[in-house]
Amino acid sequence: MENILTVFIDLDDTIWWFSENSLISLRHVYNVFSIARFCPDYEWFKSVYTTKNKELWDLYHYGMISTDFLKTERFRFTLWKTGYKGNCVELAKRMDEEYLSFLSLQSTLVPGAKELLEYLVDKGYEVNVLSNGFKNVQSRKLKSAGVAHYINRIILSDDCGITKPMPGIFEYALCVCGASPATSVMIGDNFDADIRGAHNAGWRTIFFNKNGEPIHESSVADFSVDKLLDIKHIL
Ligand SMILES: [Mg+2]
Repeated sequence: MENILTVFIDLDDTIWWFSENSLISLRHVYNVFSIARFCPDYEWFKSVYTTKNKELWDLYHYGMISTDFLKTERFRFTLWKTGYKGNCVELAKRMDEEYLSFLSLQSTLVPGAKELLEYLVDKGYEVNVLSNGFKNVQSRKLKSAGVAHYINRIILSDDCGITKPMPGIFEYALCVCGASPATSVMIGDNFDADIRGAHNAGWRTIFFNKNGEPIHESSVADFSVDKLLDIKHIL
């Protein structure tokens, strides 16, 4: 890929292994708050939470709900489904705080992430994170995983009030980094938020298709890889 100076890369499930780390943290919260007292089936609890969380993230991506609502509602809904008789909102808030704080201490990276970041920085690219994740939590994740020093800037939807895939966050990112669409590339695992969003903003794109999903609009992604280290052949 020619004439690239600035690399923007998604964080969750592209660099930092959210799917793994979030399950460890959910189990931690289930234990710490002794949820088994009124919901002994952890697998059921996990499945209700995971489905609701995904539904809320889809709404958040499109700016339809706030971060505060998302954080409380995913646990409030799950507690309510268990039939918990106490104050679901109050407990949900405490659970989410514990969940996020424990989560941000987890250090598991997507295989190849550290090597890729090191390679990109060695090659002279400016590497920035562009994420829809929460303020405070995202930078702690990078520190916990020992890769914060590779990242020039962390640009978050929480800072500009606009989420990927909306064009505004891509314009904001260019402005903050003094970059231009012609010399920028977006790397991410979410075809809609990362790849379609960046493509619509005039950037080039590399889709990290880690699950080997069929891509119906292949023209939107300039390149697709199923392993992060394959990006070394592109950049
Ligand atoms: Mg992601």
